[in-house]
Amino acid sequence: MKSELPKTPDRWSLTSWFTACGAPDYVAFKSALIADIESMGHRPALCEDDCGEIAKAVALYETLVDRVGHLSAFLGCLSADDAKDELVKSEEAWVSTLDAELSKRKASLQSTLAAIPETSFKQLLNEPLLAGASYAVGRMREEGRRQMTCDLESLAADLNVNGLHAWGRLYDTLSGKMEFSMLFPDGHTEIVPMARRRALMSEPDRHLREASFYAGQKPWNDHADTLAAGLNGIAGTRLQLYDRRGIDHFLTPALFDGALSRKSLEAMLEAIYDTLEFSHRALRTAARLQKTSALHFFDLEAPQIAVPETKAYSWDEATATVDRLFSAAYPRLGEYFRSMLRQQWIEAQPRPGKRPGAFCTGSQIRHEERIYMTWHGTVHDMVTLAHEAGHAWHSCVLRPARSFAANYPMTLAETASNFGEMILLDGFHADPDITPETKAYLLDQEMLRAHAYLVNIPMRYEFERAFYTERAAGEVSVSRLCELMTAAQEKLYGDTLLADGKDPMFWASKMHFFITGVSFYNFPYVFGYLLSQALFARFKAEGSAFIPHYEAFLSATGSGTCEEVAFRTLGADLTTPEFWKNTLQTIVPAVEAYETLA
Ligand SMILES: [Zn+2]
Repeated sequence: MKSELPKTPDRWSLTSWFTACGAPDYVAFKSALIADIESMGHRPALCEDDCGEIAKAVALYETLVDRVGHLSAFLGCLSADDAKDELVKSEEAWVSTLDAELSKRKASLQSTLAAIPETSFKQLLNEPLLAGASYAVGRMREEGRRQMTCDLESLAADLNVNGLHAWGRLYDTLSGKMEFSMLFPDGHTEIVPMARRRALMSEPDRHLREASFYAGQKPWNDHADTLAAGLNGIAGTRLQLYDRRGIDHFLTPALFDGALSRKSLEAMLEAIYDTLEFSHRALRTAARLQKTSALHFFDLEAPQIAVPETKAYSWDEATATVDRLFSAAYPRLGEYFRSMLRQQWIEAQPRPGKRPGAFCTGSQIRHEERIYMTWHGTVHDMVTLAHEAGHAWHSCVLRPARSFAANYPMTLAETASNFGEMILLDGFHADPDITPETKAYLLDQEMLRAHAYLVNIPMRYEFERAFYTERAAGEVSVSRLCELMTAAQEKLYGDTLLADGKDPMFWASKMHFFITGVSFYNFPYVFGYLLSQALFARFKAEGSAFIPHYEAFLSATGSGTCEEVAFRTLGADLTTPEFWKNTLQTIVPAVEAYETLA
């Protein structure tokens, strides 16, 4: 089996999607799509009791979303592959305007759905064209009920381009150009782009972290007023729109997007607070490993156990290892991984001009997935490969579902990827070929992840919640933003951070607070992390008998709320703190092993 695996990092093939950007098949696809989106806009107004026509319009909308998605996935792959390709860039900008057009069609469809009387709506869901789409159509109706009139929604969508999203773009431009002068521990001074700061703050050398933290604070402080205006602008616009849409609370839209109830969110947070002391043990152990009494903010993403000086893994070795560990634990996943390799669905070759990072994407039209990453031969890259393969498998399991039922929320998006990652890591622990040094390094990495999800991200949530509460009464000043940030860090970290170890400017330097597409870009990650821990714990306990439950769970992720999906397929009740407390218990052995290591 090993012989069929490639020796050099693969390049992917995208030709089953399009020959090339601008090729005749691409142009033809694009023209037909423009025409169909336009003609949908010219359809006569839908009559509220004409279920047949409404069903047709909803089903048409679904296919248009798939077609736009197919184009954007293709362009997204090309632009990651060559960040400088100008044709691709202009095509991407064009697709985003097309997407905005489609959003308007959606808004008008949603207001029709919202206006349908209950009995006719039940009848609509029985239309054969909408089989398997009840949940998605129900959500469209629910969203429609929280809409302003179509004219106002259309105005808001246009204004958001120049208002809400402009604040986000300003942040990207400003932070993208930031640089700072830094005195390196070896005595030389260098102008460092802000984009490098995070990598410097993840260096094993503490002096390097400290120097980059303090030198890197300057641009954030220099631009604090502009950044605070941006943050106030983003939150202010949202709060105003929520008010006009009759939305009762600023968390409601984020919870709706995550398909999660307030009760479950609160149950999860309660469990996190109740077991905070336990997460603190991981932080204290990290401090002990670096021989300080507590951590500084610049220590939080740093490895305490350096990458072992082993040889680099070849692509051949890496894919064979992932294949072997996947196949041993979960044969169907291993088989799927091999089929991805065979069909050239993975882009891994290091090449100049490639964008950093990794992602998984796919096409609902071709029912194919792709993985993007850059292979540098580290054990960390292997974990990334397993993570992205987990995402791809999730899409593969959902292939039989119609697109409406294959669209899962951000809360459930990371479960399959973490599951893939955990199969690999668990396999490593039991593997005699993996050295004890590498195992210790991996355990340290696992702890970094654990306190990031259980302490750092909840801290961001606390800050954002406090900020939105105060923003509702008016603009929040720079000094108040710093106070709220400091208070959130005190609340979550307690004495695990040094007295001078907090970062009051984190509200400015963390890009997530300035994302304009979604609000509260934090708790869904905590949720995904913990739920995947729960799933994997059951897999460990039940073995292959759990796989059908796992696949049922993945298949259901696009057709129910998080609570419904978890209850239906796993019998888990996400609304109780007990579920989350039990899940948090599954991390105990790793923390104890970490303490022993120190
Ligand atoms: Zn992921």
